[in-house]
Amino acid sequence: MRAALFHQHGGPEVVRLEEVPRPEPEAGEVLIRVRAAAMNHLDLWARRGLPFAIPLPHIGGSDVVGTVEGTGERVVVNPGLWCGRCTYCARAQEPLCVRYRILGEHIDGGFAEFVAVPATHTYPIPDDVAWEVAACLPVSYGTAWRAVFTQAAVRPGEKVLVLGASGGTAIAAIQIAKLAGARVFAVTRGAENVERVRGLGADVVYDRAEADWSAEVFRDTDKQGVDVVIENVGEATWKGSLR
Ligand SMILES: [Zn+2]
Repeated sequence: MRAALFHQHGGPEVVRLEEVPRPEPEAGEVLIRVRAAAMNHLDLWARRGLPFAIPLPHIGGSDVVGTVEGTGERVVVNPGLWCGRCTYCARAQEPLCVRYRILGEHIDGGFAEFVAVPATHTYPIPDDVAWEVAACLPVSYGTAWRAVFTQAAVRPGEKVLVLGASGGTAIAAIQIAKLAGARVFAVTRGAENVERVRGLGADVVYDRAEADWSAEVFRDTDKQGVDVVIENVGEATWKGSLR
């Protein structure tokens, strides 16, 4: 099969299209004929070199959709692979699994004609959802889903603040929180992003270049603050998030 892979870390020039053996599914796995694989920022990190070594050559691609060989079922692949046996898995904290691996990061991914994945990690895609639309979901929307529901347990009517609101995971968090019935506040930068984020469903959007968003959120919530902050930035915004 053909695959986009790299033999060494570096810039885009290290990626090559080569013929490699088709993966053989192991027990419990299915072979996916890849129909679309989205480029995620994770792919750039893996290509440039991660703080840990990965086997080379490496095939990237964590966001994968395709058909199951043999049945033809249209599926999206959950790239977060866990063991199902460790203490964390037993507590339904699969992303903390001691043997946690991400398809396309720790192991070969979907920038290829085929990829073998655990059958338990494939979910059906409705016929009216295009391949390239479904392919944008797994990493960003899976991460946001865990933040909004698994960790924060957002309820209808709660106030949710999303920082760094123009990134993929943040956009997913805005849409998911909105669908859950939350009132969504978002912080981004620049008039264009403000309009875009508002169009995606955020109720109140702040331009961090124009306003002290932390003070404005405090004011706009009648000095109550929000129930949940989806922190996509980190140290630079901790203080404002926690005030
Ligand atoms: Zn585990």
